[in-house]
Amino acid sequence: MKQDYEKLNFTVGPVMSFPDIKQIGGRDVPYFRTAEFSAVGQDNERLIKKLLGMPQDSRAVFLTGSGTAAMEAVVMNCLTSSDRALIVDGGSFGHRFTELCSIHGVPFDSISLGGGRTLTEEDLRPYEGGPYTAFLVNLHETSTGVLYDGDLISDFCRRNGLFLIVDAISCFLADELDAEKLGADAVVVSSQKALALAPGLSVIVMSGRAVDRVQCAQTVSMYFDLKRYLRDGQRGQTPFTPAVNVLLQLHRRLSDIDAAGGVSCECARVAAVARDFRAKAEGLPFELYAQTPSNAVSALRVRCRTRADEIFAVLKDEYDIFVCPNGGALASEVFRVGHIGNITCEDNSRLIDAFHSMISRGRIIV
Ligand SMILES: *Cc1c(COP(=O)(O)O)cnc(C)c1O
Repeated sequence: MKQDYEKLNFTVGPVMSFPDIKQIGGRDVPYFRTAEFSAVGQDNERLIKKLLGMPQDSRAVFLTGSGTAAMEAVVMNCLTSSDRALIVDGGSFGHRFTELCSIHGVPFDSISLGGGRTLTEEDLRPYEGGPYTAFLVNLHETSTGVLYDGDLISDFCRRNGLFLIVDAISCFLADELDAEKLGADAVVVSSQKALALAPGLSVIVMSGRAVDRVQCAQTVSMYFDLKRYLRDGQRGQTPFTPAVNVLLQLHRRLSDIDAAGGVSCECARVAAVARDFRAKAEGLPFELYAQTPSNAVSALRVRCRTRADEIFAVLKDEYDIFVCPNGGALASEVFRVGHIGNITCEDNSRLIDAFHSMISRGRIIV
């Protein structure tokens, strides 16, 4: 059996990296308090703002921590007990925002969407003209594979004057996203999803309005006080030792995407892999769980007598393939196949072949 790092990886993160990115990860880490590394830091800020489509006066800060660290930093620095947040709770990542607001004393209401359901106008109507100041959403709820309608959210927030916080961690580079058109005030991105870098780095891109909120906030934290990151970021640095190698990987990846003409190319590639998988999966005893599926992942509800988590385990142990299990209430019912990172249509065929083999061996009982 292959080592775990040799397995074909269809999870949603960390995902398989491209060869030039892995090469950077294999090198010694350079010293970083230098003019040369500052130039990389400043260029990373320029590139991420450009590729996300954030306005000129926005700022990006680079946080060494997984995506949740950035979600928490945004809540701590941009919201207070005087706010009232409206949170889309469509799965485990949406639920995480409700937990963060509870921990940090930010009053909120949440819109619960069970069963792979998407957000609709009817879901928002009861909150129209309500006492809200902020709206928090994971544009792609990775746990269910549901991609929400950006225009719907954007219109609602503009109409109601809401500060919009967007977790774009699993949609950046998978589904088209124009943060300025969306009117987003804070956008969160992380290294291990479609960016396909090593985990441990997240980025928060903030509008001028968000920067003002950060500057006025009385954030009770040393590591998560973004004022320090804004200040040091002006010269391309971070207050504390960053994930230096991941920042170098980020620079390579963003530069390549920019040189290829922007995010459209990358989103189209991911979309093609997703389409290919869904076409090849026709006839298997699974159905798409998400009402409005993203390009990043296919969440599959099993329509057979074998449990979803059992399918995950057999693929891992007998086929050297990782798919992504679901947790909690969906563990037996749903598993996910990711389309991000260095995955090809040939890889899809290998996974489809494995499913057929499992059926013929009685490891999937239809
Ligand atoms: C992966 C992910 C996160 C971050 O999870 P971490 O494990 O903290 O990196 C947050 N939101 C969404 C939508 C994600 O897909």
